Amino acid sequence: MIRTVLGDISCGQLGRTLVHEHICCYSEPLFQMSGNHYLDKEALISASVRYLRELKSSHHLNTFMDCTPPNIGRDLELLKEVSYASEVNIIGSTGFYYTQEPILYNTNAATIARCMEQDIASHPIGIIKCAVEDPEISDFSKKLLQATAMAHLDSGLPIVMHTNARNRNGLPALELLLEAGVDPRAVTVGHLSDTDDLDYVSRIASYGCFIGFDRLYDNPTEEYLSRTAQKIKTLAGSGFADRILLSHDALFFNGFESQPVIHEKPRFAYCFDSILPRLPASLGAQIMVDNPARMMLANR
Ligand SMILES: [Zn+2]
Repeated sequence: MIRTVLGDISCGQLGRTLVHEHICCYSEPLFQMSGNHYLDKEALISASVRYLRELKSSHHLNTFMDCTPPNIGRDLELLKEVSYASEVNIIGSTGFYYTQEPILYNTNAATIARCMEQDIASHPIGIIKCAVEDPEISDFSKKLLQATAMAHLDSGLPIVMHTNARNRNGLPALELLLEAGVDPRAVTVGHLSDTDDLDYVSRIASYGCFIGFDRLYDNPTEEYLSRTAQKIKTLAGSGFADRILLSHDALFFNGFESQPVIHEKPRFAYCFDSILPRLPASLGAQIMVDNPARMMLANR
């Protein structure tokens, strides 16, 4: 079974899935200080429900994986309301973004892992998010990766990892997870659509993990879209078709921008409108339906 914010479903009920998106990211301290002046949650829920319902009817979107961990504004009650009203499955995350915080700085990996395990035991969580950003994997990042591995081994939930493809840190971060005993089939190395270096992507895929083509940018040029589709076809032709995941990494509200606003229609349709038509239909179905289901069930 797969855990959504509204309860467990079978992998056959996932359907067409966007594997790496966000309803919102925000700062809980700023929300405590400024409330609706900073983030109007009712307006956010309305916008999210409206557009997810539209995507469900126009593009058969059935499941939305929300990769926002608690330290950048996960709000499970908000996700439940959006999922209930839109009738789109939403899968929520535990784990930590890479930003250093006082509480994490002084806490060891086992304690951080225990927090994640308690989160998973008491809330409807479906994935563990982790993140590396800098070219060198710092001691702090290593600690978070160790904690992520422990929480995964305890819970069996899949790991979705934000990486910086230009910093080429996905490979060493993946290797750290594997050294900690994680099965590669339980890991998605994310944001690999940000690089054209397919040797790097292939080296990661060769471990048997999922490779996230899970970032598509706003206002894409035709050249960018066809290059992205071509990279997917090349990787599929190299034997990695069963490991490719496609998504946008878009959000309705990014509370870390200088002027945060609620977006009525974030870029959640590019992969349907502009990438899938450039791929063979069978490969498109594999990437949008079969691979997300295998990713969610990996290692269980
Ligand atoms: Zn993201």
